[in-house]
Amino acid sequence: MSKSYSSLKSILSEILPLHRTLASDDMDKTLQIIGSYMPDSADYTIETYAPGSQVWTWRVPEKYVVHEAYLETESARGAGRSERVVDFKNNPLHIISYSLPVDLILSWDELKPHLRYSERCPSAIPWEFKFYERDWGFCLPKNQFDQLPQDEKYHAVIRSEFISDPQQGFKVASAVVHPEGGANPDAGEFIVMSHTCHPMQANDNTSGVVTEIDLARRLAGRPLPASSMSVRFWFGPETIGTVAYLANHEDQIPNLRGGMFLDSVGNQNTLALQRTRQNNHLLDRVASYVMQKQFGEFRQGEFAQVAPNDERVINGPGVNVPCISLSRFPYPEYHTTDDNLDIIHEGLLVEAVDVAEEIIRIYASNYIPKRTFRGPVFLSGNGLWVDWRDNWALNRAIEKIMMSFEGQHTIFDIAEQVNLDYWMVRDYVEKFRAKGFVTLMPIPSEAQAA
Ligand SMILES: [Zn+2]
Repeated sequence: MSKSYSSLKSILSEILPLHRTLASDDMDKTLQIIGSYMPDSADYTIETYAPGSQVWTWRVPEKYVVHEAYLETESARGAGRSERVVDFKNNPLHIISYSLPVDLILSWDELKPHLRYSERCPSAIPWEFKFYERDWGFCLPKNQFDQLPQDEKYHAVIRSEFISDPQQGFKVASAVVHPEGGANPDAGEFIVMSHTCHPMQANDNTSGVVTEIDLARRLAGRPLPASSMSVRFWFGPETIGTVAYLANHEDQIPNLRGGMFLDSVGNQNTLALQRTRQNNHLLDRVASYVMQKQFGEFRQGEFAQVAPNDERVINGPGVNVPCISLSRFPYPEYHTTDDNLDIIHEGLLVEAVDVAEEIIRIYASNYIPKRTFRGPVFLSGNGLWVDWRDNWALNRAIEKIMMSFEGQHTIFDIAEQVNLDYWMVRDYVEKFRAKGFVTLMPIPSEAQAA
């Protein structure tokens, strides 16, 4: 039974403190927590990939274990004092993620190149990582860095371990929510993504994770109309997670009709639409329509220009599934410990879910109606006449709608042409379909096969 929740922020605070790096025990725990909230019907599945294995041009990283990590002055150590300059157990951001193991006595000049701080947020610990060209280092607030004695010797200890056991490998998770009546294989899937990495950070991107959970629950609770696309929900570490997943599921790629990445959606800033790489794709037009309806004027940017994320994979070379993203990027607390619960607003998380949900409901339920009739349809004889006294605008649009069933236009295109609400036009077209006057042609796949 999937767990209930009182707010999105409550799930966020459960995941937030975990040491969520590319692969770690806490990442495994994070994926389990996500699964506990996902709808039961969605068949949430966690997959493990063997460290060191080749995925396209990338390599799957090892699991990272930190037994202990701290920095202390030699004088404190000599005097048997336990105070430490920084300690991993107080905050996982205190070390550069994937730091190599060290146990060294260093002068200030030797230590300094291994210390990282943020000029932008001087009282916060910055998040730094060296996943592939490995090194080691500690992260601390600039204010603390400025106070450190330079005539001291320092003891740097990082007891870390890289585990390449395939059983304990690198993990991602996904689940699928089907439309009313079950999957329609011809319609394919829409994929929603967010990443689970970024230890101790709330907005980037635990906010995306919790909005994605809520979206899945909404689409399971009130399924998309029959014959719509299924919606796949994906969770995992940034970039390498998506690369590893797609490389292991190349057969799924032709099925994907579109995607959405959710990133940093809880902070106080306007929601921005990042367009697909195609830039003026049907998905961009659907998203713009929803954003416009919700906000009037809205913020938008080109592909990978607002908040570059895994759309660079899903909409990238050799895949090229049109993928938008929604985010409230930029924000000043980015990649520091100031990115915490204080900057997250429940109302803004919910607003992001509302917008994402409507984009998906329209895009995934859209199809190309293809006529089976000849001549104008005998409307009043088939219950298809719309009385102008009941709906003047739809009455005026009937002829245009009926002339658009040549297999060239989707319902969304038709609604755009007649400048009417998508759902009103869809309901009307569905009446033609119920009479057998149009058949449903799904939106074709545009994914690259190699
Ligand atoms: Zn980030």
